[in-house]
Amino acid sequence: MSAPTVGLRPELPPLPDRIARLPRHRGYPVPWFVGWVDGSPDFRVFDGEKFVRAVREGLCWVCGEKLGAHLAFVIGPMCAVNRISAEPPSHRECAEFSARACPFLSRPTMRRREGSMPDGAGDMAGFGIRRNPGVALVWVTKRYGVVRVSNGNLFRVGDPRDVQCFAEGRTATVDEIAASFWSGLPILAAEARADGPHAVRALVQQGVQALRVLGVVAPRPGELIAAAERIEAVAAATEVSRA
Ligand SMILES: [Zn+2]
Repeated sequence: MSAPTVGLRPELPPLPDRIARLPRHRGYPVPWFVGWVDGSPDFRVFDGEKFVRAVREGLCWVCGEKLGAHLAFVIGPMCAVNRISAEPPSHRECAEFSARACPFLSRPTMRRREGSMPDGAGDMAGFGIRRNPGVALVWVTKRYGVVRVSNGNLFRVGDPRDVQCFAEGRTATVDEIAASFWSGLPILAAEARADGPHAVRALVQQGVQALRVLGVVAPRPGELIAAAERIEAVAAATEVSRA
């Protein structure tokens, strides 16, 4: 069943049925998780109650309907390294739509607006990386864990069944994925340096694994060793993060 497209932004990708059923605002479907302030959706914030329901009832973060066996996380390339997501999972097609359509994720030049956040708005837990990664991953897995942190919950994503990478609304090129990875790495490297040599070793291992999963590095010994050495070099050149 095709959804009515009247009033939709022409640049949006085709709407999956579940997303076509969502309310719309200024030509955009409003994701289920979005917080509403004075009758208008604020796309920058999520509704804390929906967050709890998504986790407890196994509901899709984007459309609010029941999830199946496959759980899709929309994450940045650095999250492929630490396997952490700040947002709960979605249906694969809902995640893919988000990765293609979300203005923040799909337009690398766009900056997050930080001004005039409503009081009590749900901000993402943990040490969020506040940069636009340019590349959005749809990481499909069958399991995840919840990690308690001081200011909320984070999600530890399971091994991937499938990973797709998007940039500017289309499939990302290997060069774009690599550029996003290497430009984001110093942020994780600074944290690892602060945590000590064991954390740097773990980062090297996780980073090489992520590069393989993302298709940036082929599983050949020479390429893997070169990638490990480059990650070590980035860590060695990084200022130690805040204590
Ligand atoms: Zn969904």
